[in-house]
Amino acid sequence: MPSPYPFVLALPQSETERFLSENLAAAGVEVERNLELTSLTQTSEMVRAVLRHSDGREEIVETSWLIGCDGAHSSTRHQLGMQFEGAQFEESFILADVQLDSSLARDRLHLFFAEEGILGIIPFAPNRCRIIANIPPESRNQTLPDVTLGDVQGLIDRRASAACRVSDPVWLSRFDISHRKVRQFRQLRVFLAGDAAHIHSPAGGQGMNTGIQDACNLAWKLALVVRGISPAQLLGSYHLERNPVASGVINLTDRITRLATVRSSVAQSVRDFLLPMVSGIDFVGEKIADRLAELDVSYRNSPIVENHGAGRSKAGERAPDAELRDEENQARRLFELFRAPRHILLLFLGATGAANEKAHELSATLAGLPENAIDSYRIARGLTNDPAELRDLSGLAHAAYGLVEGGIVLVRPDGYIGYRSDDFDPLKLRAYLARIFNLAPVPAAVS
Ligand SMILES: Cc1cc2nc3c(=O)[nH]c(=O)nc-3n(C[C@H](O)[C@H](O)[C@H](O)COP(=O)(O)OP(=O)(O)OC[C@H]3O[C@@H](n4cnc5c(N)ncnc54)[C@H](O)[C@@H]3O)c2cc1C
Repeated sequence: MPSPYPFVLALPQSETERFLSENLAAAGVEVERNLELTSLTQTSEMVRAVLRHSDGREEIVETSWLIGCDGAHSSTRHQLGMQFEGAQFEESFILADVQLDSSLARDRLHLFFAEEGILGIIPFAPNRCRIIANIPPESRNQTLPDVTLGDVQGLIDRRASAACRVSDPVWLSRFDISHRKVRQFRQLRVFLAGDAAHIHSPAGGQGMNTGIQDACNLAWKLALVVRGISPAQLLGSYHLERNPVASGVINLTDRITRLATVRSSVAQSVRDFLLPMVSGIDFVGEKIADRLAELDVSYRNSPIVENHGAGRSKAGERAPDAELRDEENQARRLFELFRAPRHILLLFLGATGAANEKAHELSATLAGLPENAIDSYRIARGLTNDPAELRDLSGLAHAAYGLVEGGIVLVRPDGYIGYRSDDFDPLKLRAYLARIFNLAPVPAAVS
C-alpha cells in the first residue's frame, strides 16, 4: 500500500474510540455520554434539538448546523423522516472474542471456506482472537441469539483445517447484517455521517473507515462556513462526494459477502480454485489492499475540484506523500505539512528558474484570502540557495504529482487534491479559490 503503514492492524474498535476521545480531549473537546437526542426540528435559519440527561432532565440546544452520527438506528434520521433504503442479508453471523489455543500463525488473518460456510479467525492480542462465521439461512432459526462457547467450538471443528480450542469468551453474539443507505446525506441544516447514513456487511472491515472519512470530508467544509471563510454552497459537495463512495463500499462488500457465502458446490469449487490464484497476483493484491484500506477513494467528479494538464495524481485524488529536505537538510514529509488544519498550497518549481519566477508572481493571487486559510510552500527540484524553499532532492515529490517541470497543487484539509495544474496561471487559480473561499475583491495586479 502507498502508506508508511503497509500492514493490517487488527485493533478492537474500543481502542480506536479511546484514541479518538483522547485526541478530542487534548483539543479541548469533551464527549458527553448518557445524553440522548429525543427530538429534532429545523427551519431555514436554525436547528433545535431536545436532549435528555440520564437523570431525566431535558436540555434544549439551538444551533446553526447539526451532524447526526448516531449509528445505524439514528434518531436524527428518524426525526427527519429520512428513508434508509436497502435490505437485510439472508445469512446471519456469529461473532466471538475468545482465547484461542492452536498452531495457526498469529500474524495472519485466517479465512476458511468450508462447504457449510466461512470462518474467519483474526488474532488481535496475545492469545486472543476474533472469530466470525456465517450461519446459513436454513439453520438461522436453530441458532439462538444467546450464542454459547460450544456453538463457536462446533463451528471451528467443522470448518477450520487446523485443531483449535477456544476458551474465556469476552464477547459472544449473533447478528444480522443489512445494506442500506440514505438518498441524501443532508437535509437543510442537518447532516448524517457514518452508520447513520450507510451500513453494509462488515466483510472487508470498512464501516468505521467510511464513517471517519465522512466526518473528515464534512468537518473542514463546515468549519470554513461557520467561520465565514467559505460560502455555504461549499456544503453541497458533502453529499456529492460521499454518496458515491458509500454506494461503492456497499456494492463491494455485498459482492465479497455473496462470494464468501455462496451455496452451490460448483460455485464454491470455482471460488476456492480461483481465489488463492487471483489474490496471489501482486498487482491484484495491491488493488484489493488499496480498495479495502480506502486509499483509492477519489472525488475526481466533484464540482469543487479542478485539474489542468495530464499526469499522475489528479485533482480529487488522495494527495501522495514524499520526503523533502529543509534548509538544514532535515527531512520534512508532505504528510507532516498536511497535518495543519488548513489548505496547503504546494508550488512545485521544477528544475529551471522559469517556474520559480511564475511561482513568485502568484503571491498576488493569494491576496484577499482570509488569514490562515492557506499555508503555502515552494518546493525546488534539487538544491536551492533560497532558505525559504523546501528541497525535493530525489525529484520523487515532483514525480508523485506528475509535475516534473513544475506546477501547482492545492491540498484540502482532508488530504485530497482540490486543485492541480501544470501551469502557474494566476487567473485560473484565483477563479478556483473564489469558488472555495469568500474572497475580498480581486487585486488590480491580478485582474
Ligand atoms: C460485527 C461487526 C464487525 C465490524 N467490523 C468492523 C471492522 O473490522 N472495521 C471497521 O471499520 N468497521 C467495522 N464494523 C462497522 C463499525 O463498527 C461501524 O461502521 C462504526 O461503529 C460506525 O460508527 P458510527 O460512529 O457511525 O456509529 P456507532 O459506532 O454506532 O456510534 C453511534 C453512537 O451514537 C450514539 N447514539 C445513538 N442514538 C443516540 C441518540 N438518540 N442520542 C445520542 N446518542 C445516540 C450511540 O450510543 C453511539 O455511541 C463492524 C460492525 C459490526 C456489526
